Amino acid sequence: MKILFTVSECVPFVKTGGLADVVGALAPVLAEKGHDVRVMLPKYAAIPENYVNQMNHVVDFEVELGWRRQYCGIEQLDMNGVTFYFVDNRYYFGRNYIYGLGGDEYERFAFFSRAVLNALPLIGFKPDILHAHDWQAGLIPVLLNAHYAALPAYSGIKTVMTIHNLQYQGIFGIKEVQDVLGLEDAMFTNDKLECFGAANFLKGGIVYSDEITTVSPSYAEEIQTAYYGERLDGLLRAKKAHVTGVLNGIDMQEYDPMEDGSIARTYSIADISGKADCKRALQEQLGLQQRPDVPIIAMVGRLSNQKGLDLVDYVIADIMREEVQLVCLGMGDSRYVNLFSWAEQNYPGRVAARFVMDHQLAHQIYAGADMFLMPSQYEPCGLSQMIAMRYGTIPLVRETGGLRDTVLSYNEFTGSGNGFSFFNYNAHDMLHTIQRALHYYFNKKDVWQILQERGMNADFSWEQSAETYINIYHGLLNAKAAESGKPTRKPPVKKSAAKDNKPSDDGPAKNKATEKKTPAKKAARPKEAN
Ligand code: ADP
Repeated sequence: MKILFTVSECVPFVKTGGLADVVGALAPVLAEKGHDVRVMLPKYAAIPENYVNQMNHVVDFEVELGWRRQYCGIEQLDMNGVTFYFVDNRYYFGRNYIYGLGGDEYERFAFFSRAVLNALPLIGFKPDILHAHDWQAGLIPVLLNAHYAALPAYSGIKTVMTIHNLQYQGIFGIKEVQDVLGLEDAMFTNDKLECFGAANFLKGGIVYSDEITTVSPSYAEEIQTAYYGERLDGLLRAKKAHVTGVLNGIDMQEYDPMEDGSIARTYSIADISGKADCKRALQEQLGLQQRPDVPIIAMVGRLSNQKGLDLVDYVIADIMREEVQLVCLGMGDSRYVNLFSWAEQNYPGRVAARFVMDHQLAHQIYAGADMFLMPSQYEPCGLSQMIAMRYGTIPLVRETGGLRDTVLSYNEFTGSGNGFSFFNYNAHDMLHTIQRALHYYFNKKDVWQILQERGMNADFSWEQSAETYINIYHGLLNAKAAESGKPTRKPPVKKSAAKDNKPSDDGPAKNKATEKKTPAKKAARPKEAN
């Protein structure tokens, strides 16, 4: 199968969040399974020079954007069985930021979308499946349908749109978008690109794609409700039959405590003693008190309200009244930078915060911490909780989206679970969950160890989810064959795949280790532990 990913960021080239991890890990797994996988992304100035030096110029052409004609170069780099194409235009992507600051995001990603489609015949690649990720690629299925699909070089290409975070939709003025895209008025009605008076790139992608996926089964259900639906819940309900939640995996090689070169000492389930060294090193590095007996609660991630930091703000004094140390690594909203800066000053030697993008430090925190706090307001999938578990760091999460699908709260009656969680978006529920975890940390070492083992044993690889994507792709190709009068066997596709991952009280969707070890059927939310 020929698969093209179109995306605005991808590891190892450029990353601002989980999207880059997901595409960078999924593409090689699909390639390993024998598919021809190619990825197209912008050639940002931020891409490290060593990669730029490895790129080969394939072709250049001009892209028409309304009255403008813009240069577009396509540079190629092959890595891990995947061909990466970089869309080059220095005016749009040679800037000192990835997203946001220039006020012309609509034009940058309209350019990217047209460039991707124009490039296909020139690079000699006609994908069976064009898989667009997030709003930055949302226009591609729209333009494909409106301007390209009738041409032989594009006919029959099937499209998949993945929503990695519904909050970010790419909403712009209709006039500006029309100006650069040259789309007729009829495209800006509320069954197409228009949404509450504006042009909405993600909505366009959802309307025009053959299949829609999102990154966890629970989130797939949540976004069809008004609370989580970000004003697109009606559309998603209408397309319900084509919406599937596929849980993300993590790169099991990159995040491996047995092989990790960034951490003070490697360790495994069989001998976890290295984790204490990692903790000592982390405390020393961050200027925390050298206290092996005091648990470190860590947070790594974007400092945004999505991540539930308002709850932390509300009860931070209560948290710090406990015997704990707090570590935060993240970039984002100034109010949360202020919060953790204040805490660092107010609790010297007990709180450490770093407001940078530092992948090595992230590894050291995952390894050195005892607990990982993720009280998200919503969480499409979340990678950090899975990474934390891989390092034997116990997740404390709110039961939403992918957190609900990967973390099952410890149940002292059945023994099931792999972490601790709470349901309501409520600061004191979170505080209670922290206190509950502390109880087990201090008083029930045996339980703590079991939870660590379950996390470290769990299969968070892409294996199962990659198969689910392949099933979705096959389903589309079979549908295409049927349309063209060559009916084939109906595929075992997505509905069953969605069922496989269906969130339930049975616990984490793909956490096989936990599934095996815990009689999860009885795993209701645990009652008071102590
Ligand atoms: P999101 O995609 O919402 O940002 P995820 O949990 O899905 O959140 O993925 C976040 C990824 O980015 C994780 O791999 C996390 O370790 C990493 N990350 C986030 N902030 C930082 C940072 N400041 N430094 C290093 N890594 C970070």
